[in-house]
Amino acid sequence: MTNLDVEWAKDWMRRSSALLTERRMELIDLDRAIGDGDHGENMARGFTFVVQRIDENPPEDVPGVFKLVAQTLMSKVGGAAGPLYGTAFMRAAKAAEGDLDAASVADICAAALEGIVARGKATTGEKTMVDAWTPAIAAARAAAEAGQSPAEALRAAADAAAKGAEETIPMQATKGRASYLGERSIGHQDPGATSTSYLLGAAADAAEAAS
Ligand code: ADP
Ligand code: MG
Repeated sequence: MTNLDVEWAKDWMRRSSALLTERRMELIDLDRAIGDGDHGENMARGFTFVVQRIDENPPEDVPGVFKLVAQTLMSKVGGAAGPLYGTAFMRAAKAAEGDLDAASVADICAAALEGIVARGKATTGEKTMVDAWTPAIAAARAAAEAGQSPAEALRAAADAAAKGAEETIPMQATKGRASYLGERSIGHQDPGATSTSYLLGAAADAAEAAS
């Protein structure tokens, strides 16, 4: 089973940038419905910077890539998502020790969520990206325990995140900008949970391409 190395991490960021640029309008529309409409622009712009910086100064290991992502998102991305994803990647960088096996995939996702929760204080059911990360971790952990590959663990995480994002539709937001809408936030999919499912999908695509 191929462990995930720095080439995978860089490819993950390239694929994230491409996918978030492709989905920019969709994320803008989701954020328009329950927020201020900047999420698609924030994410597409942030990951464009990430790829630029990787090209200028290629990191040598997986934690190095995650650290670069964290610093870029924190300094270049406004809104709630920049600091939240920035903290997530900073914690993931600390949790990663070189290349990743399936158990490490679950560990870095868990570390990312811990960072998001430390920063945003949300729990599940509040209609945020936490509702995508939480099932993703459980799925990655189950895949690792079943002896699956890191690519399979990431695919399971991405699928669970996509389902978790869909399950935010009937929720009422009680954290972040969407909470200002009260009951009117019901009936829309959370943009941050959606971008989380795209990020994890890009991670799985990169892992499958590498194995
Ligand atoms: P802003 O709301 O400041 O415009 P973005 O539009 O970039 O920021 O990001 C909005 C997303 O951030 C939401 O869809 C939600 O998933 C996430 N979010 C907001 N507040 C929190 C929080 N306290 N904890 C976790 N995620 C949050
Ligand atoms: Mg917004």
